[in-house]
Amino acid sequence: MNTSQTIITELAKELGADLVGFCTFETAPTYLAPHLTHAVSIAVKLSDAVLSTITDAPTYIYFQHYRTANALLDSIAFRLARQIEKMGYSAMPVAASQSQGKNAPYQGVVSHKTVAVKSGLGYVGKNGLFISELYGSKIRLATILTDMPIDETKPVLENGCGDCQLCKFACPAGAIYGELPTTDGERNIDPEKCSRYMKEKFQDIGRGSVCGICIKVCPKNK
Ligand code: SF4
Ligand code: SF4
Repeated sequence: MNTSQTIITELAKELGADLVGFCTFETAPTYLAPHLTHAVSIAVKLSDAVLSTITDAPTYIYFQHYRTANALLDSIAFRLARQIEKMGYSAMPVAASQSQGKNAPYQGVVSHKTVAVKSGLGYVGKNGLFISELYGSKIRLATILTDMPIDETKPVLENGCGDCQLCKFACPAGAIYGELPTTDGERNIDPEKCSRYMKEKFQDIGRGSVCGICIKVCPKNK
């Protein structure tokens, strides 16, 4: 790890990040910044006590916690991007919760999961979520794209779901196929089915934007 990576890692941890990783891409992951082929992945862990309040539906406290975790990640990513710029490089923070509008409702500017996997922090599970080696699926992610030099990246970890299908059986929408992801996890769940169910059944909590059941049941959280 070079000096810039060490500075960014230390600052990220100081600001509240629980996981920090680095990776490089052959071509930039977004057309918005074709010169930014390197990336920093950051994660914050969700509260075990808050997650434990989810049963067969999300709770208000989970929704508020989810939003706070996203806000913290966005703040950390913003500050890290500023630090990277101060060191003489370019940086683009990508928000934890992304939307590209009607044309790509289930796809962000950058896949945080792909960045986190390439950074060696974990893998994508059958629930379509990023499963971190240390905290399982009880985390939220954000990304900073950059041209800052990155000297080493950790190897991609093997998928650890094995024969487990708990998330498939727990999903009330039937949106989880119960299969390992092919590339970045986008194909092993039906995001439209998931979203429709949340909007129909959990409208009174964050207008149907959260659920959390497939996070809660994952045994990798332990
Ligand atoms: S968030 Fe809820 S509805 Fe969506 S895939 Fe997970 S368990 Fe199913
Ligand atoms: S619940 Fe089981 S199958 Fe689903 S993501 Fe977690 S470990 Fe994988």
